[in-house]
Order: sequence, then structure tokens, then C-alpha cells
Amino acid sequence: MRLAGKIVLITGSGSGIGKGTALLFAQEGATVIVNDLDTLKGEETAQEIVEAGGKAIFIQADVTDPASVQAMVEQAIAAFGRIDVLFNNAGISGVGALHEVEPDVWDRVMRVNIRGVYLPSKYVLPHMMERKSGSIINMSSCVAEIGLAKRASYSATKGAVLALTKSMQVDYAPYHIRVNALLPGTILTPFVENYLKTSYDDPEAAIESIKKRQLSGELGRPEDVAKAALFLASDESKFMMGSPLYIDGGVVFG
Ligand code: NAD
Repeated sequence: MRLAGKIVLITGSGSGIGKGTALLFAQEGATVIVNDLDTLKGEETAQEIVEAGGKAIFIQADVTDPASVQAMVEQAIAAFGRIDVLFNNAGISGVGALHEVEPDVWDRVMRVNIRGVYLPSKYVLPHMMERKSGSIINMSSCVAEIGLAKRASYSATKGAVLALTKSMQVDYAPYHIRVNALLPGTILTPFVENYLKTSYDDPEAAIESIKKRQLSGELGRPEDVAKAALFLASDESKFMMGSPLYIDGGVVFG
């Protein structure tokens, strides 16, 4: 059990990568605080964990809303006394070349994908600083490193998350808090399925062209990213600080 006794908060864990990570972390002995905007999906994840013999609770919160995030962190601390690992995973897609993106859509992508990393970190960090211990995992993306067509707003947010990760690492290293980033390639989740359905006439053909872009020749699965998150959450990665970790099937070399 690589996370035995650890208390873990995962934002956006009602679906996709967050859900896959919540299930894996629970199998590895963690108590998982499942967060999502969507109550139904979040409750389902927590219930699946409990039914499999693991430990989890669900707390509904919007990661863009300070009062909501503060209340979530207070509830988690009241219940478990601490948070050992924070995985800032919640995020939304943003489609379009820059001139095609409407200002309100641009702002929404910024809010969820950047403010949604800032706020949970802001309220969890004082507890980690007090205990001089913690691991924070921020969800970036391979688009922070490679140019992808029609992903202007989304790419801007994921580049910002990578820069924020490095800045956070410098500030919190004196408190023995590690802050690292995950950079996945295309992972087949509801997020990607919706994107393919709404952006392409032929989603199957789009999947084939994405596969060709990745050295692996395959799309990733939530479990692939969950295993990388497990490494960053555990002490096995204790010498990784402020690092980008690629789980992209080699897309950055494509
Ligand atoms: P997903 O849509 O399956 O899951 C995201 C979850 O976040 C959803 O359950 C959603 O309800 C929740 N969420 C959205 N806004 C929220 C908010 N304001 N507050 C709380 N929860 C909120 O998506 P996914 O593919 O699992 O993506 C998870 C993360 O991984 C995102 O940050 C995404 O940008 C990133 N990512 C995904 C891929 C991919 O190919 N799937 C690649 C690189 C990075």
C-alpha cells in the first residue's frame, strides 16, 4: 500500500482522470476526499470506493468559488485533521483558434483551469505549511509544451499551470511541500469524447489521426495518468520538485 494512512483531496474526481486516480489511491490505502461540481458524479465515485472496501467522502464544491473551496477544506480538516496530498485535477476544455474564442468563453476556461488550481492550493497550503509536509499535484497538459491547433485558451491555461507549479515549488520547498505537474497527452475520457463529438464531423477519424500523432500509436487511459499521479503523491518521488511529468504516449516528440 503506497498511500497507507494518507488523506488525499482530488478536485474534479467525479469523472475521467480524477475518478481513475481516486479509485487507485483508495486501493493504495488513502482516504480520498472526492470533490466535484457535479454532485451525482462525485457521489458515484465515493460510493464505488466505499463499496470496494476503501475510504472516501464526497464534498461538492466549485473550484472557482473561494467560499465554496474554503468550506470544502474546512470540512475536510474537521473530518480528518489534515490533507497530505492535493491533486488539482478539475478542468474544462477550450476549443478554437484565438480569434474564434468569445471573451466570456476565454474567461471561463481561465477561471476553471487556473483559478481552480489557485484556490484549493491557497486554502490547503496553510495546513501543509503548519505540518511541514505535503504533496501538491497540478494538472497541466502536453499542450503546455507543444502547439496544438485550435486550443488557444486551453493551451494558455495549461502553460500557466506549469509556470505556477514551478513558482509554488520555490515558495513552499522550505516547508517540505513538493509541487509537481502532470502533462498528459490525449487520454480517452468524457472530456475528450465531448470535444471530439462537438469539433469533428467524424470523431472516429479524428481518433485515428490523434493516434498517429502519438509515438505509442494509442490514446491513453485514465489509469495511465492515475499511476503517474500515484508516483507524485507517494514518497517514491521525494526527489521530484517543481517537475513536469509527461504521460503522453510520446506526443511531444511527434
Ligand atoms: P472530465 O471532464 O472527464 O473530468 C473533469 C471533472 O472536473 C468533471 O467531473 C467536472 O464536473 C469537474 N469540474 C469541472 N469544473 C469544475 C469546477 N468548477 N469545480 C469542481 N469540479 C469541476 O475530464 P478529464 O479528461 O478527466 O480531465 C481532467 C483534467 O485533466 C483536466 O484538468 C484536463 O484539462 C486535464 N487533461 C486531460 C487530458 C485528456 O486528454 N483527457 C489531457 C491533458 C490534461
